[in-house]
Amino acid sequence: MTVPTISLNNGVEIPQLGFGVYQVEPEQTKDATLSALEVGYRHIDTAQMYGNEKGVGEALRESGIARDEIFVTSKLNNGFHAHDDAIKAFDESLDRLGLDQLDLFLIHWPLPGIDIDFVETWTALEEIYASGRTRSIGVSNFQPKHIRRLVQETDVVPAVNQVEVHPYLTQDELRAVNAEHGIATEAWSPIAQGLVLDNPAIAAIADEHGKTPAQVVLRWHLQRGDIVFPKSVTRSRVEENFDLFDFELSGSQIGFINALNKDERTGPDPDSFNYIP
Ligand code: NAD
Repeated sequence: MTVPTISLNNGVEIPQLGFGVYQVEPEQTKDATLSALEVGYRHIDTAQMYGNEKGVGEALRESGIARDEIFVTSKLNNGFHAHDDAIKAFDESLDRLGLDQLDLFLIHWPLPGIDIDFVETWTALEEIYASGRTRSIGVSNFQPKHIRRLVQETDVVPAVNQVEVHPYLTQDELRAVNAEHGIATEAWSPIAQGLVLDNPAIAAIADEHGKTPAQVVLRWHLQRGDIVFPKSVTRSRVEENFDLFDFELSGSQIGFINALNKDERTGPDPDSFNYIP
């Protein structure tokens, strides 16, 4: 099965479906990632904050799959927003992963309440990008006003903005702002960590297609054009979450799911989240 790719604004191709490793224990990460690669995933989403880049790197090497066939993303941890700290932290990510180049590196959170401006942090990512040590750079949890500032005040437009999106938080305004600037939306917690799976409207659509609620929700994201990387350490679910390409939701089914929005976050609000680990 070949997963469709999306062309980022610098021409780099990213598989629209990947495997996320948030909350995968470091000692489980190698096996979980290897299992996902066996199933066919070719895009792994990790972060410095997850503490498991080493396990991802081990899996990449053990898989024997060519490096250029796997898209690897990591994210800058919140304590490293100062320019020089960001560059050092990036290099440490490469070391932990055992790679000489990332495919995508993100500012994990904008941290609007700290005294280091994310514009300063972005200039560090721009330098890393210019050096060729990552094929693309982007942001995560940026609100429309943060995106507008970067676009106005810096040279490189982020390739992606990775934000919480699921049927209870459809993020229509934010996705439109991303699209207006050619920024791809990556939807984190795409099934709201399981919260949306017992919704009766989603269950009914799943029955109509002979698929599971998780498959319907993931398919909804793909048809809306977003990039997703559901997380599971259970092999059957890892397979289920990859089996999305033999059915299509109708326009009205997509509309029904869009209408479930209640602007409900499962994670922190980026406007007030200033946590430094
Ligand atoms: P998710 O929506 O992918 O849900 C994961 C949970 O749902 C699993 O722990 C499991 O309990 C359950 N699940 C998975 N597949 C299932 C299935 N088929 N049927 C039933 N239950 C199933 O949530 P997530 O892990 O928070 O998000 C996915 C990825 O997004 C993360 O691993 C990470 O890579 C990324 N993420 C990024 C940020 C950020 O701030 N940038 C924040 C959270 C997550």
